[in-house]
Amino acid sequence: MPELAEVEYARKRWNPGLGDELLAVELHEKKRIFRGTDTRALRRCLVRQKFLRSEARGKQMLFVFSGDNWLGIHLGMSGNLRTEPARFGPGVHDHLVLRQGERALVFRDARQFGRVRFHHGKETPPWWNAIAPEVHSRDFSKSALREFLRRHGRAPIKAVLLLQSGFPGIGNWMADEILWRAHIVPHRRAGELSEKKLIALWRSTRFVSLASLRTIGRDNSEPPRTWLLHDRWKREGKCPKHKIKLRRETIGGRTTAWCPRCQR
Ligand SMILES: [Zn+2]
Repeated sequence: MPELAEVEYARKRWNPGLGDELLAVELHEKKRIFRGTDTRALRRCLVRQKFLRSEARGKQMLFVFSGDNWLGIHLGMSGNLRTEPARFGPGVHDHLVLRQGERALVFRDARQFGRVRFHHGKETPPWWNAIAPEVHSRDFSKSALREFLRRHGRAPIKAVLLLQSGFPGIGNWMADEILWRAHIVPHRRAGELSEKKLIALWRSTRFVSLASLRTIGRDNSEPPRTWLLHDRWKREGKCPKHKIKLRRETIGGRTTAWCPRCQR
């Protein structure tokens, strides 16, 4: 599933269309990704409007159009964005196509865990404002982190890191990377972290999110070889530091990898 850096990269795939007007909007209105969305309004309002800018926040993206029109996209498990030539014919999973004079902006989602939302109005959409502060922003402070961990004190820290209400954009691989760097064992209860571990967690959360935005998020390049990420998918994956075999266990419903020497 795309996490914050992959989402940031995906957002920019529509950049070739910035500044250009939409000539037509094609969509599969019965599809689950449009649940709760007024697809007729989406179609009616967006035609003849200009694509002005976009933004990513956590796992969500916002595309802003002239005339006070806002399009929200969540990629879910398998969604992706791309740009196609103007004469492109959509495939069965291309559920939203925004046509411009010189190209088509396409959202594809085969498994349909993604979501498309539309808002027409002067102010930013309420669902956009409701997203928790980003983990690389100033609002993600040590005291905010302390309070969030206290509220979820009984849950394993790995499961808490996956909560979008506290760690927007963090998913399975980033959570493992963060805990490995902070030397925290993933099944430790969130309420049982020492102050020292809490600060280490805060630091590594910021580091992992910023460094992945600078690599994956910028141009889809890989983070350095020293990251856990490269080994955690491998069957015989080893700790980049100790070269000992990583442990694996399901925590918070997700396969979790960690180093028994780094993380105690
Ligand atoms: Zn290790």
